[in-house]
Amino acid sequence: MQRSEPGRQPLASGSRIGGLAKFDAAALAQQFADWGFKSSHAARVLRAFYAGEDLATAPLRGLPKGLGEKLRAEFLSEEVALAARQVAEDGTTKLLLRLGDGRTVESVLMPDFRPDRAAGCLSSQVGCAMGCDFCATTKTGFERNLTAAEIVGQFITLRREARDAGRRLQTVVFMGMGEPLLNLDAVLTAVRRLADNTVGALGWRQITVSTVGIVPGMDALTATGLNLHLAVSLHAPDDATRAQLLPMGKRFLIADILAAADRFQARRGRPVTIQYCLLSGVNDSPAHARQLAALLGPRRMHVNLLRYNPTGLSLRGYNYKPSSDLAAEAFVAELREHKVVAHFRRSRGPDIAAACGQLRERTV
Ligand code: SF4
Repeated sequence: MQRSEPGRQPLASGSRIGGLAKFDAAALAQQFADWGFKSSHAARVLRAFYAGEDLATAPLRGLPKGLGEKLRAEFLSEEVALAARQVAEDGTTKLLLRLGDGRTVESVLMPDFRPDRAAGCLSSQVGCAMGCDFCATTKTGFERNLTAAEIVGQFITLRREARDAGRRLQTVVFMGMGEPLLNLDAVLTAVRRLADNTVGALGWRQITVSTVGIVPGMDALTATGLNLHLAVSLHAPDDATRAQLLPMGKRFLIADILAAADRFQARRGRPVTIQYCLLSGVNDSPAHARQLAALLGPRRMHVNLLRYNPTGLSLRGYNYKPSSDLAAEAFVAELREHKVVAHFRRSRGPDIAAACGQLRERTV
């Protein structure tokens, strides 16, 4: 069976040297020195690891005698183990990943329109405490934060999947399970490893962190000075509507969230992306669009419009419906009329529940 064929896919078995996900280049160099090897081998080993190579079965040539064996002896473990793979009609691949404590998270590989590229969606937590009313992830509550090594492990797994499909994992977004700014230390440790230019996995601009609008977290991210992208899930142009959809909307008001986004944008010099999920009869009227345009027009922020991906009855007992084509087109036309840059983001893999808001913890 080809990996790209739709449906649930069989998995290859075998262990890999996944323990390298715990190391940055400096720590691995120190480890090699402690073992009596040259520290200069560390960057090369990590480059191969981050490229998705299987160092257990295909050791690097040119490593000093004994180092490959030492790596296998010490690091033959997986931070995340691939438990199931599903491929959607559009080629989107959803991975169920088992963590060391038996919990699971989902990550998604999305083929680009360019035939040799793909994007990855990473989770930052097991479950989520944010309670967004239209999201499946939060229905089972929050269990724990992922470690930096588990986040790196997801990336490596997605990179291998992409490579096996003849594609390069070109960008990653933290839009999977969890609120990344509530696990900021681990997320930052992981992205610093991914964007370490001695390892060469990704550039900063290829990484997007998405938030429901945790203002202190946004400011902490701004203070790092890291050159990554920030996306903010707004989903409503007024606090009353937003608080119905996102409980965090009661704690952080739109004005404060956008002020924090302004600070990030001023520091980085690049537009923040505003995410807006269109829900029929809730937030998709032309009046909502005009309100949104009034907020964002002067700020140069871009809007990503999402179609709602059904997740059954919501936490508050609503049966949300996606906006009609007519309403969605009128909404985007209104935004553009007011000079707001707005695009529809394609739903990826809705037939395998891999689209935004559909990820959740499962057992296999
Ligand atoms: S949309 Fe994101 S932040 Fe909101 S509950 Fe779902 S996973 Fe959490």
